[in-house]
Amino acid sequence: MKVLVPVKRVVDPNVKVRVKADQTGVELANVKMSMNPFCEIAVEEALRMREAGTVTEVVAVSIGVQQCQETIRTALAMGADRGILIKTDEDVQPLAVAKLLKAVVDEEGPDLVILGKQAIDDDSNQTGQMLAALLGWSQGTFASNIDIADGKAQVVREIDGGLETVSLNMPAIVTTDLRLNEPRYASLPNIMKAKKKPIDEKTPEDYGVDIAPRLTVLKVEEPPKRQAGVMVESVAELVDKLRNEAGVI
Ligand code: AMP
Repeated sequence: MKVLVPVKRVVDPNVKVRVKADQTGVELANVKMSMNPFCEIAVEEALRMREAGTVTEVVAVSIGVQQCQETIRTALAMGADRGILIKTDEDVQPLAVAKLLKAVVDEEGPDLVILGKQAIDDDSNQTGQMLAALLGWSQGTFASNIDIADGKAQVVREIDGGLETVSLNMPAIVTTDLRLNEPRYASLPNIMKAKKKPIDEKTPEDYGVDIAPRLTVLKVEEPPKRQAGVMVESVAELVDKLRNEAGVI
């Protein structure tokens, strides 16, 4: 069984992002970039399936600028078998990503695609769902457990206030939630080995996919600054403030 894992290059989660002065987006110049954390979880899950003998090949695919190759190398260093880079300098929105991934699926014929539930830069949470719709495949989103057996994928989903278990016909799309696993670190020997693993380079034109943006970002703003707190002298004062100032009791 072959698994495809789309991995996105995003601003490193430990970087404090700054909004550009003209409010068109966030500052990306000289900012550390990394693999989207939910995609790391997706790679880890695919590798565990291969180690368990359910999966024979793990293919990592990334769409974006040339440096997305580094993101693919990270997946290869974790243990993925090979990579596909779809190179473009254009802004690629979730629908365009989903269309390109559909083209890769048509060519590669995987039995399972594991994506992150969302990319931490655009927070879209759309690509997996759109890909499932374009392919007409079943989907298990926000997975905290995946079991593959007898041609079905049993997925435990994180939903409001609890867990839902669904059984998916294969081939299927799964998107990862935080609790699915803890991704491994790449060891030095594996980082070296990853340099020799193949990465195919393609362009959106190779797949005949129109990646023109369908939505326009009007404005990006910082969240409002938090107000400074006040120290209260007694419980009575706290209750008074909650009742008469905050109006919450
Ligand atoms: P989003 O719908 O943008 O929140 O992204 C959800 C998931 O789709 C990510 O965790 C990735 O697995 C995949 N994805 C989104 N954009 C890309 C991209 N440019 N390249 C590869 N995978 C992507």
